[in-house]
Amino acid sequence: MIFSSLAEKLQDTFDKLRGKGKLSESDVKSALKEVKMALLEADVNYKVVKRFINKIEERAVGKEVMDSLTPAQQVIKIVNEEMQALMGGSQEEINISPDPPTIIMMVGLQGSGKTTSAGKLARMLSNKGKNPLLVAADVYRPAAIRQLQVLGERLDLPVFSMGEDSDPVDIARGSINFASTHNCDTIILDTAGRLHIDQEMMEELEGIKGAVDPDEILLVVDAMTGQDAVNVAQNFDQRLDIDGILLTKMDGDARGGAALSIKEITGKPIKFAGTGEKLADLEPFHPDRMASRILGMGDVLGLIEKAEKSIDKEKAKALEEKIRKNEFTLEDFMEQMSQVRNMGPMDELLGMIPGMGGAKQLKNLQVDDKQLDHIEAIISSMTPEERRKPDIINGSRRKRIAQGSGCKIQDVNRLLKQFRQTKKMMKQLNSGNMKKGGMNLPF
Ligand code: GDP
Repeated sequence: MIFSSLAEKLQDTFDKLRGKGKLSESDVKSALKEVKMALLEADVNYKVVKRFINKIEERAVGKEVMDSLTPAQQVIKIVNEEMQALMGGSQEEINISPDPPTIIMMVGLQGSGKTTSAGKLARMLSNKGKNPLLVAADVYRPAAIRQLQVLGERLDLPVFSMGEDSDPVDIARGSINFASTHNCDTIILDTAGRLHIDQEMMEELEGIKGAVDPDEILLVVDAMTGQDAVNVAQNFDQRLDIDGILLTKMDGDARGGAALSIKEITGKPIKFAGTGEKLADLEPFHPDRMASRILGMGDVLGLIEKAEKSIDKEKAKALEEKIRKNEFTLEDFMEQMSQVRNMGPMDELLGMIPGMGGAKQLKNLQVDDKQLDHIEAIISSMTPEERRKPDIINGSRRKRIAQGSGCKIQDVNRLLKQFRQTKKMMKQLNSGNMKKGGMNLPF
């Protein structure tokens, strides 16, 4: 999970601080020492850590904080504010040209996730009503053009390519004509990367930049490479004067070193975060929400946005009606589960709930996506009638369902019990005070 190991350490430190009541200067200093260690272990650049800790110390070790009624909260608030500032303060949008087409040039090393991110960005812009054109200007990596074409087909968006034997500068220029004849208002150039920074690549990118004057040069870097990502960003920025960063693979980055150092070192903001391999896994980067998540304060706004994107409002309404009439079946149970799962992995979702960010609590909860897989397999092995009337599921049916789903009979029993309890709970809510328009999740 994003930042999980860093979050766990920082939350431990702050728990200790909260437990103290009144704080002395040395309490704060020793807490900050722990914060410093945690950040260094998270692979945050040491210069960044030093400046960060100094700033916090300046603000936190003073009479105002020490004498306040909630000194620990004050310290945490300061850390939160400084962490937010470290990541850029507020969310930054990409540059949009007042005179279309807007040209977005994606640059980055091979394997950083550039082509995938070009597709994700096209999807996001298209969902916002834009009409993007994907341009295959990576003529070196085998299959890069095909990869982009496949993405274009899946997204039902146009892809411009001139094959592998063309000059990337000509492709970039050609895409502008293509965009104007095909009513595309945004051009996303997928340029070639290399495994390492190399002179030839930089010259080619400078050539494209000079030829088409992009509105946005978006550097794609892999969060999991930590400080290497920061060095790469510095190099690209020196040569190309980038506008922003798209940090990929944050879903696998438990440490967070790149996310926390890159803005401070390069001066360029992280504009997007890649959080998975699917095309929907791209989010605008919100420094404030990210800081809250790291400090275990949750990210309620992020959670609501995820829910709004993944949960079908019509279905939610129909479900509410069923619950009201006590007609909730195992089919609905499964449907609802799959909608929640569309929102993302369970541990990530729980991490967005305030107070649940600490990986420690999550471990205790043992929310395992595999368990959900089992539940889905069990319900899928039932007949439609069984799903609607689980009371008919006797011993021999249970055995058949267990065999069909590859689970144990006990698992089937547990699910049926869970479902009965959920129904009972819904009945109570119905007779009591279920709010109109409210939605209930059975788990
Ligand atoms: P390129 O060489 O920079 O164009 O890289 P690709 O777009 O081909 O991506 C390289 C690999 O990283 C692919 O397997 C992608 O699925 C994967 N990838 C890209 N972005 C993400 C992300 O945000 N999270 C995860 N987990 N994988 C990603």
